Amino acid sequence: MSPFPDELPPLDCHAHIAPDVTPTQIDALQGAVVFAVTRTPAEAHRACRRRDARLVWGSGVHPGVSEALDAFDLQQFRATLRHTCLIGEVGLDRRGNLERQRTVLAQILHAAQDQAVLLSLHSTGRTGPLLDLLTDQPHPGMILHWFLGSPTERQHAIALGAYFSVNAAMPDDILTSLPLTRLLPETDFPASRRTTGASRPGHIDRLEQRLAQLHGMTPEHLRRRFWQNLRELTTRTHVLDRLPEPVADWALEA
Ligand SMILES: [Zn+2]
Repeated sequence: MSPFPDELPPLDCHAHIAPDVTPTQIDALQGAVVFAVTRTPAEAHRACRRRDARLVWGSGVHPGVSEALDAFDLQQFRATLRHTCLIGEVGLDRRGNLERQRTVLAQILHAAQDQAVLLSLHSTGRTGPLLDLLTDQPHPGMILHWFLGSPTERQHAIALGAYFSVNAAMPDDILTSLPLTRLLPETDFPASRRTTGASRPGHIDRLEQRLAQLHGMTPEHLRRRFWQNLRELTTRTHVLDRLPEPVADWALEA
């Protein structure tokens, strides 16, 4: 147990930040640690070459963005994994052709096999097909982002060993049905601005307050739980050493 749990910064495991973000804009995040996912291979290419002390950049191909699927190239995607330990955002989405999305995601999961990476997985409207794919090609680093599957699907995802990044727009019954030890916080900023009340990436106060209340703990303890969960996940996936040094230190200290 850390003697200084309240010194841990806010953690946001899924938000959108432009890869040309300036130091001033990063300062405006008020010290938050943010997993910054990308939507297209072009965006990922730029993002994965950045080095920021508190940002973990993702290599993504958003399933709901047709141009992103068009631009996907397996060799280029593999190359991004030399620079980053985060794949995201990837997954399946109700918009667009399921087969096409599935083909791309299967290649991504194959490329991720035996790699020290985390995956931030989108599943809007296609939770069942996503779980089918993950059952065939499971990965220890999978984080289901804003997962709204049925109770049976949630149990299935838990049994597969998945982690869940959750936000303040998710209903109480879903939040409480997921094991606290598998939860990570997210804002999905800016997509969810209206529903989560997050005013910037890393602004997870509302989520922390609500979840803390649901679990009868203080927001400070909950934040420490999130960091401990990140430590567990990044240890089992060998991602811990690939995180920016201050981020790894907070995870270890939590
Ligand atoms: Zn997103």
